Amino acid sequence: MARGVGDILQGLESGEFSSVEITQDYLERIERLNPSLNCFISVTGEIALEQARAADAARAAGEAGPLCGVPLAHKDLFCTDGVRTSCGSRMLDNFIAPYDATVIAQCKRDGAVMLGKTNMDEFAMGSSNENSYYGPVANPWDPARVPGGSSGGSAAAVAAGLTPAATGTDTGGSIRQPAALCGVTGIKPTYGRVSRYGMVAFASSLDQGGPLAHSAADCARLLQTMAGFDQRDSTSADTALPDFSAGLDGGLAGRRIGLPKEYFAEGLDARLGDVIQQAIDELQQMGAELVEISLANIDLSIPVYYVIAMAEASSNLSRYDGVRFGHRCDDPADLEDLYKRSRWEGFGAEVKRRIMIGTYALSAGYYDAYYLKAQQLRRLIKQDFQQAFTRVDYILAPVTPETAFEIGAKANDPVSMYLQDIYTISLNLAGLPGISLPAGFVDGLPVGMQLIGNYFDESGLLAAAHAYQQVTDWHLREPGS
Ligand code: GLN
Repeated sequence: MARGVGDILQGLESGEFSSVEITQDYLERIERLNPSLNCFISVTGEIALEQARAADAARAAGEAGPLCGVPLAHKDLFCTDGVRTSCGSRMLDNFIAPYDATVIAQCKRDGAVMLGKTNMDEFAMGSSNENSYYGPVANPWDPARVPGGSSGGSAAAVAAGLTPAATGTDTGGSIRQPAALCGVTGIKPTYGRVSRYGMVAFASSLDQGGPLAHSAADCARLLQTMAGFDQRDSTSADTALPDFSAGLDGGLAGRRIGLPKEYFAEGLDARLGDVIQQAIDELQQMGAELVEISLANIDLSIPVYYVIAMAEASSNLSRYDGVRFGHRCDDPADLEDLYKRSRWEGFGAEVKRRIMIGTYALSAGYYDAYYLKAQQLRRLIKQDFQQAFTRVDYILAPVTPETAFEIGAKANDPVSMYLQDIYTISLNLAGLPGISLPAGFVDGLPVGMQLIGNYFDESGLLAAAHAYQQVTDWHLREPGS
């Protein structure tokens, strides 16, 4: 059975195995399975073993941090000091980060071991991991299918047992959607809960880091390490950090769960609808009270997101100019040629599409019609949620409209790809936390369910998910078993 973070900590504490031994196990498994799954862009075996040795020594000296000796994989958009940070792009294929992102520094502080950097859609733009410069990732449940995106490498690596847990980021669904398609648990925290310092920026007002793992209990452990106020991120929230693991036993009895009627209308595959209905019945039996709610502006989320995310991306990605770092074209004729060709060669098709749309939306004459309008609608979407949370504790929703699709099936249809995010994107616009957890299967492929919480209520979400995982075993199922 695949080991979770909790199992590994127990094994390390009891002396059943050392960090070096367990790290070697994972590195061997990566060597065997990664060539076909393509979950990792870089495997950092030497660093991992060095960190594992240090962790074993720290534990022996009675100085074990909360994740001491636990192997982890990091999405390749967290800057890692001295290690390539590619962001899935040719543009950063040669970029060795000169510092650690706060998330990485905190993982180090708590004793975690880095196995490597995981594959992802280029600059986190995508829902299938097919936009990676390093090629698609195979879904461990069916290698002909996508793992979801953009944290596809992280989700598939956890599902395939190449790492007990991984970091990811979520701008419009990139933790929750791949978690759902790979049958693992992933939480997108409240905007501001996890520092964005050292995360390669896609859309700064939406990007948020979070963990992917087998269970809510493991997500609680990772989030504890990843989260916290950081003065180097001006949008980091200076709020108290609860003890997420201590809060896990909060249960569900008497909690009110809102079911947005718009989410259960057309668009959702009926077989997924049945799986989610069963989960709803289960939650009700566990003592939750169900309340029908309405999120009236929810259908605007996708167009609003794609205006805002592209506008922010076009601005963020203007820093890649071939001068300071990243890809530079050969033999530029002059400065303009250097900019143009470096960017033309360094960025893939989806990234270019977004830069162009974003630039258009921000240009004088269109700004009011698109960007400003989108910001106004964003506020209405946020207000819908705020109103809903005066009546309920959590909101339940699907994560994806369908199960994992075949590699290539939507590659030439950006709009149908964008529609994959229909249930996830609104949270990012509102800045709310959401957790995706396994709820069943359709034709042997995992189906996720999403619980959405009020601002900074990750504890409540983790407790609700943990309660569900105490009475179900979907999160324990493994591909090929
Ligand atoms: N799929 C969405 C997009 O392509 C969200 C990606 C993300 O969350 N990073 O923008």
